[in-house]
Amino acid sequence: MKRIAILGATGSIGGSALDVIERHPDRYRAGVLAAGRQVEALLELCRKHRPEHAVIADPAGFRRLRDGLQEAGLATHAHAGPEALAEVAAEEAETVVAAIVGAAGVPSVLAAARAGRRILLANKEAVVVAGDLLTAAVAAHGAELLPVDSEHNALFQCLPQPASRAGQHPAVRRIVLTASGGPFRGRSRDELAAVSPEQACAHPNWSMGRKISVDSATLMNKGLEVIEAHWLFGLPAERIDVVVHPQSLVHSLVDYVDGSTLAQLGLPDMRTALAYGLAWPERIEAGVGALDLLRAGRLDFEPPDRTAFPALDLAFGALRAGIGATTVLNAANEVAVSAFLQRELGFLAMADCIAATLDAVAPDPGADLEARLALDARARRVASDWIARQR
Ligand code: NAD
Ligand code: MG
Repeated sequence: MKRIAILGATGSIGGSALDVIERHPDRYRAGVLAAGRQVEALLELCRKHRPEHAVIADPAGFRRLRDGLQEAGLATHAHAGPEALAEVAAEEAETVVAAIVGAAGVPSVLAAARAGRRILLANKEAVVVAGDLLTAAVAAHGAELLPVDSEHNALFQCLPQPASRAGQHPAVRRIVLTASGGPFRGRSRDELAAVSPEQACAHPNWSMGRKISVDSATLMNKGLEVIEAHWLFGLPAERIDVVVHPQSLVHSLVDYVDGSTLAQLGLPDMRTALAYGLAWPERIEAGVGALDLLRAGRLDFEPPDRTAFPALDLAFGALRAGIGATTVLNAANEVAVSAFLQRELGFLAMADCIAATLDAVAPDPGADLEARLALDARARRVASDWIARQR
């Protein structure tokens, strides 16, 4: 029986992970459930899954969590605060599902790597900010990093093992990430000026949290994924390509030097990648039906519109500049997306805010996590000030 820690249990990925775990009570149990600030939703999950530990990152939620667990007659231990979250995740489970949104997930992912755990990585921002520290910790402590992001999971399935060294493999020519194009595919830049958060969050193929939904609408999600692929598979920017594929059935492709292209296909359902990560190298039932190509009818491909969606090139540029720049890019993006969701910033201004922050902040990455988080904080301040000046 494997104990699984789910960080971000109340989110979209967290829910999908719990769904797969519930299908295999003989193999897995949810031993740790952690969330940001939604105490009631976390309590609800605890009543259902009876974990040994529950963690709320927001310290203000501790009393309600502890009392709620007691009222429910559960033996679940209550913890609070980001330090407890990282510690409990690393110590109380063999497998950690990293499904926190944003750079907030960095310390817990690193702690899991340092404890030598299997990490099912959904939290792409953690790699964008700390890919160097994370891959070094994984190698030093014998941890396993299994990508859950659907594109990277597809690539992991199609690359020669170990996938982490695919960039040095003489047979791999390049990788191609597919992008759905998001809800605004086909629109011109001018047509994007007045779009609302509701329109941006209405993704055609995937049901996801609000932050990643906005990232999908700007194509920043694909930009973050290019950076993520660089760290997970050791490939330079020149060997990572992006193609828009509106049906989201081909999840990504690998080109080999002999002219072969391997792709992984499937319905757009994150439970496939989560089941793959849980059971690898085996495969288990995920609750996802088979892809029926006759019913799908067609698979379309087109180049991304880099004028309407400048976030993609901002991300490529930051990747070429180094991990300090990708940390700044990510921080500015988190601030800009949050402002857009609160209607304080227009859709197109998000990329302007990120570009201005990249110009203004010296991207010194430092040598450790502390320095990196300080850079992240500086970039957030600059991005917030930029937004305040637009009003
Ligand atoms: P979500 O908003 O639905 O859930 C986020 C979770 O993180 C929640 O449980 C929330 O409580 C928790 N959280 C937020 N801030 C926190 C903090 N400071 N400390 C601790 N916990 C915190 O998001 P999601 O769609 O599930 O996405 C989670 C991550 O997975 C993101 O990095 C996203 O890019 C990635 N991802 C998601 C999908 C998807 O289909 N949803 C696909 C690929 C990758
Ligand atoms: Mg993805």
